[in-house]
Amino acid sequence: MYSLIIIAALFGLLWGSFLNVVIYRLPRMQISGIVRRGKPLAFLALPLSYCPHCEEGIKPYHNVPLISFLLLLGRAKCCGAPISIRYPLVEASGALIAAGSLAHFGWNLDALLAGIFLSILLVAAVIDLQRYYLLDTLTLPLLWLGLLVNIDSRFTSLEEAVLGATGGYLLMFGLAAAASFMLKKTAMGGGDFKLMAALGAWLGWETLFVLLFLAALFGLLLAGMRYLARGRAHRIPFGPALALAGAVMLFWGDKMILTYLSYIGG
Ligand SMILES: [Zn+2]
Repeated sequence: MYSLIIIAALFGLLWGSFLNVVIYRLPRMQISGIVRRGKPLAFLALPLSYCPHCEEGIKPYHNVPLISFLLLLGRAKCCGAPISIRYPLVEASGALIAAGSLAHFGWNLDALLAGIFLSILLVAAVIDLQRYYLLDTLTLPLLWLGLLVNIDSRFTSLEEAVLGATGGYLLMFGLAAAASFMLKKTAMGGGDFKLMAALGAWLGWETLFVLLFLAALFGLLLAGMRYLARGRAHRIPFGPALALAGAVMLFWGDKMILTYLSYIGG
C-alpha cells in the first residue's frame, strides 16, 4: 500500500502541474478569450505550457513539478522572470490530494471521486485568492456532481445531500444578507453561496454548521497571514477558507461533528 501511495503522490505532482494550467487559463478563457502570440487558445490543455511572461514554450525538462522550481531557483529559464510560489504549492497540493485520497479511501472509486472533489476545490480556491471571485464553471458542476455521486449514498445519503445543497445556499445567503445589513456593504459574493451549496451536496446538511465554524477559523488565519505578509489589513476572499473546511470535513467530518456535539452537550 505504501508504494501505491508514493506512486499516487508522484502522479499527483503531475496532476497539480495540470491544475496550475487550469488555474491560469480558465478565468482568462472566460473573460476575454486567451490569446498567445496573437492566436486565441482553443483548449484548456493546448498548447503545452508556455511562460506567462514572455510566452516562450517551456521545455519538458524545465517543467518537472517541484524539482524545476528548485533547480531554476524560482526563475523562468527563458526570460528570468520570477516564477510564482503558487506553482510549486499547487503541485505539492496535487500530490497531497492524490496520496491523501488513496490513503483514506483505499484503491476504489471513492478515492477517485474525492480526488476530483478536492481538485475542483483547489482550483476554485486559488482563483478566488487571486481574483476575488468563484467561477460558476467550477462551483455549479461541483454542486450537481455532489448530488450525482450521492445517489447511492457514497459520502452521505441523497436526502442529506439535497438538504445540504439547499441549506448550504440559504445559510450563506442569510448570513450575507445579515452581514450586509449590519456593515452596510456587500459582505459576501454569490459564489460563496454556490460553493457552500456544492459542499452541502457532497457532505450532507449535518456538516454545514461545523463546516462554517471551521471556515470562519481558516478565514481568520488567512486574514492574519495576509496581514503579516503585506503589513496592512487586507480584504480576503471567503472561498479558500470554505474550500479548506470542505476538504477537512471530507476526511474527518464524522469526528468533527461528534466533537462539536459533545461541546454543545448533544
Ligand atoms: Zn519567459
